[in-house]
Amino acid sequence: MMKKIYDYGLDDLKNYVHALGLKDFKARQIYSWLYKKRVDDFNKMTDLSRDLIARLESEFMINILCLIEKQTARDLTTKFLFKMTDGALVESVLMVFDYGYSACISTQVGCNMGCTFCASGLLKKVRDLSAGEILAQVLYIQKYLDEQGERLGNIVLMGTGEPFDNYENVMKALAIINDPHGLEIGARHISISTCGVAPMIYRFADEKVQYNLAISLHAPNDELRSKLMPINKAYPLKELFKALEYYALDNNRRITFEYLLLNGINDTVECADQLQQLLKGLNAYINLIPYNEVKEKNYRTANDRQALLFYDMLKKRNVAVTLRQKKGDDIDAACGQLRAKYEAGE
Ligand code: SAH
Repeated sequence: MMKKIYDYGLDDLKNYVHALGLKDFKARQIYSWLYKKRVDDFNKMTDLSRDLIARLESEFMINILCLIEKQTARDLTTKFLFKMTDGALVESVLMVFDYGYSACISTQVGCNMGCTFCASGLLKKVRDLSAGEILAQVLYIQKYLDEQGERLGNIVLMGTGEPFDNYENVMKALAIINDPHGLEIGARHISISTCGVAPMIYRFADEKVQYNLAISLHAPNDELRSKLMPINKAYPLKELFKALEYYALDNNRRITFEYLLLNGINDTVECADQLQQLLKGLNAYINLIPYNEVKEKNYRTANDRQALLFYDMLKKRNVAVTLRQKKGDDIDAACGQLRAKYEAGE
């Protein structure tokens, strides 16, 4: 079985070259070819010996995903559908904001969290993505931007999958993405989004990393949240917030709460009151997200007026709140939409 070169962090590469009797700097050269010069062929690594190149070629794959579809929206949001070496389909999205380029990356093939509004769960989890497969999406998008002389500034793990259900691979990929000798994207520009796997929030809190944490909240009480998100039955709000308080102990870290606007369901006055209570004392803000309607689901998005109304309700209650710009709504930009369509043969 061929290995994927991007599954090897710098330490793994060092171990690999040591076993061949070579020094650390060979590993650093390979690493730099991969992430700084971003070549996609071992033969282009001109400061490696012929022997080493031949060896790498016989043991490692360097092209581990291929693009099978690309859609670009009017607002330049670009969605990529990739095929992995085993045929698994994975989506990533590139968005353009006034603060720069941001990529939304997948962490699993399908998802088992079963959120009732989400297109990703239309297809159950097939497997986790390896660290290299997570990283390769970012690398592909950076190479795409290289052609335009542009740089990817932000990463959000908000594609298909639950990052905290694939914890180790996610952390390993992010380490290379963040590494100044790797893709060099600042920790503050990397966000991990979770549906609320509480035990992993404790683990994440203990890491020495400064990535942002985003929680998909979507409802301010257990009754509604359990209806929308099955994970809430395993880790109800009380347990989730206990974990978040622990996370916040360190420097009063800031937490982002994502809150989908589902009209008539979670945008009522009662919901605004409950949200105010729930977030009291935390250094938090709510990001209201317009719902991307999914054909197979019955939820309706709040229109602009309704969204503003709820935004104002929260402002009046002194809740820090932002309203996310809608992106790519003329393409299949909701998590899992493009992949689900492709699998259905549409
Ligand atoms: N599993 C993680 C990350 C992937 S989902 C999580 O739950 O956070 C990323 C975000 O997109 C989550 O907040 C999710 O609830 C939201 N989302 C899912 N389907 C959506 C849709 N159709 N429209 C808008 N946001 C959606």
